[in-house]
Amino acid sequence: MLESDTLKILQEALRKLDAGFLSLPEFAAAATDSQKISEVLTSTAVRLRDNYPYFHPLYAGQMLKPPHPVARLAYALALWINPNNHALDGGRASSAMEKEAVAEIAAMFDWDTHLGHLCGGGTMANLEALWVAGQLAPGKTILASEQAHYTHQRISRVLQLPCETVRCDARGRMDVDALRARLARGDVGTVVATMGTTATGSVDPLAEILPLRQKYGFRIHADAAYGGYFRLAGNLAEETRGNFGQIQHADSIVIDPHKHGLQPYGCGCVLFRDPAVGRLYKHDSPYTYFSSTELHLGEISLECSRPGAAAVALWATQRLLPLQKHGEFANSLERCREAALMFHQRLAQDGRFLTPFAPELDIVVFAPRAANVEEASVLTRKIFQAAARRDLHLAVAEIPVAFFGGRWERDKQDRFGLACLRTVLMKPEHLDWLDRIWAILDQATQECMGR
Ligand SMILES: *Cc1c(COP(=O)(O)O)cnc(C)c1O
Repeated sequence: MLESDTLKILQEALRKLDAGFLSLPEFAAAATDSQKISEVLTSTAVRLRDNYPYFHPLYAGQMLKPPHPVARLAYALALWINPNNHALDGGRASSAMEKEAVAEIAAMFDWDTHLGHLCGGGTMANLEALWVAGQLAPGKTILASEQAHYTHQRISRVLQLPCETVRCDARGRMDVDALRARLARGDVGTVVATMGTTATGSVDPLAEILPLRQKYGFRIHADAAYGGYFRLAGNLAEETRGNFGQIQHADSIVIDPHKHGLQPYGCGCVLFRDPAVGRLYKHDSPYTYFSSTELHLGEISLECSRPGAAAVALWATQRLLPLQKHGEFANSLERCREAALMFHQRLAQDGRFLTPFAPELDIVVFAPRAANVEEASVLTRKIFQAAARRDLHLAVAEIPVAFFGGRWERDKQDRFGLACLRTVLMKPEHLDWLDRIWAILDQATQECMGR
């Protein structure tokens, strides 16, 4: 099941890397006990079997996507050097590769100048964006929608900035009327526009939020951790496309190469439109930066030591799959979205299920029809388990009942969330596997609901 043919390429590349150091006096690292390593590693492999099969198309639950083989190999190759992208002293080539790869991401958003870098993930990236926002507007409120990632609440507490939520409309997007009303009360420093919510893939109406900035003077931070790469997809609904088409006007952007960008975990990215925010990172470390006057990434990053390997992997992946509209990478995102649309259509035509709204990206949520919210939630969990017993792995997500547009309006439990089934169809192979996925869901549903 697990691809291993490409390991041969790693050996070749390792020889090539090694050849770059042949002028040094001969040296071999202290002998290692291969037998013991082998024993430990095989028991490690056995230990790792205790996982859902994230790499397989029947895993369609949480946001997990296997890294591209080239990312895996480039990351592993870099480990023989183990560069640290904190400073150029620790990782010359990998720092240059990071700057190039990040500039390519910025170019995807039409930015030809920017300040940005990689970091541990979307949480760190958002932390930096809000940290900068907080320094530019001290004490002012951060607004994010009810469906924004919960990290914004926590980050605001870390930064000791007031944070409020803005109501969502029935499609899980920030309600612009509610936003306008809150802005009119004043004291807002930053609005976080989520470009693809983690629960339903809903995209905040950035095109309508932007004009409010002129009037009220706040910063706009686009949290595109999940959805950012869909900027390249050619098959978005018109409204979604319109909002993605405006991201370049945000003041800062977060995107997670370790979500849709085919990277191993540990790869988030934060970008600022105005490079001058770099001054806010100023420090006077006496020891880190002494080898050149060129920019050390540690000067514009809150994290100090960072894996150069993550930059190498991203750089290599973008060599193979450039971030271009109509390119192979864009096409693979389009397949994910197509799979989500087809899956949603099947659900909508099947009397046993309810869906809140058509997916904007590649995440589909749905619930079994039942007399009330509580029964539906119980059934959801049963179907989730019955599917898992058949090797189809979905996720359960709590979704506001209001997203179902009045289906349960008079229900007393209306205020509560409904436990829904959620599937993230983020592997391009999901499109080819839709029939199999549907067949298993159908059987699991029959087991729980009858015919
Ligand atoms: C995943 C996600 C985050 C958090 O990113 P991590 O990489 O998990 O730290 C933040 N915002 C959104 C919209 C996300 O989807």
